[in-house]
Amino acid sequence: MVRAKKHLGQHFLKDQNIAKRIAESLIGDNYDAVLEIGPGTGVLTQFLIPRFEDLTVIELDRESVAYLNENFPSLKNKIIGGDFLKMPVPEIFPKPFAIVGNFPYNISTQIVFKTLENKELIPEFAGMFQKEVAERIVARPGSKTYGIMSVLVAAYYHAEYLFTVEPGVFNPPPKVQSGVIRLTRKENYQLDCSEKQLYMVVKLAFNQRRKTLRNALKSLNLSLSEDKMYLLGKRAEQLSLEDFIFITKSLETP
Ligand code: SAH
Repeated sequence: MVRAKKHLGQHFLKDQNIAKRIAESLIGDNYDAVLEIGPGTGVLTQFLIPRFEDLTVIELDRESVAYLNENFPSLKNKIIGGDFLKMPVPEIFPKPFAIVGNFPYNISTQIVFKTLENKELIPEFAGMFQKEVAERIVARPGSKTYGIMSVLVAAYYHAEYLFTVEPGVFNPPPKVQSGVIRLTRKENYQLDCSEKQLYMVVKLAFNQRRKTLRNALKSLNLSLSEDKMYLLGKRAEQLSLEDFIFITKSLETP
């Protein structure tokens, strides 16, 4: 038995069926390698092993790493004891790979942003977050949860909300519900504008999300063509990815 540690965001899944469903959330048809983040005692891992020959896991908790080494000898050198946020991704995965996990909720957002940073190598991503984060990732324009993460994820991935998981199936139970999502990289995920500028515009717009873009983006001195001026009367949460890209491009071509 591994004792759950709060500071590592450990909530171990007790329900085998849900673990199996998460492991099956990966479609798995355009890559060989898979990385599980935060395997803990391997409840998901056991269902990933028969599906994926080239499975690596990364786990920060030493006690869990020892447990995995003892109970999953077939993973041998594929158990990395360490912090996913510090992992040099292209060094360890020179070829495309997928990410899966019942993720440590204390670093949810950072896992998503690190995935975006390495999108060239990551065609698929599936796993569990606290429900509120899962909803923010998949949110569409016009919804309350639509925000920076929704837009930046949508720039590169199709995002799907798969199912909700109740607190009672974890040990210890978290305070909130959880949600399982899947991201599938778009066929053509090259942006039509500078990524850096897009991130800047999206952040600026959502940092003052109750204001119209005319006010929130004042510092950019936007000059939009007549037929797109109406965008400035909207608020960030009403804009689609395409609208944000349009605004970003207008910065580049004066
Ligand atoms: N997958 C297991 C455990 C989920 S809890 C299950 O479903 O039962 C999240 C796990 O992530 C914990 O085991 C925790 O130790 C691990 N973890 C926390 N921070 C991490 C990090 N930065 N890198 C890798 N693993 C981490």
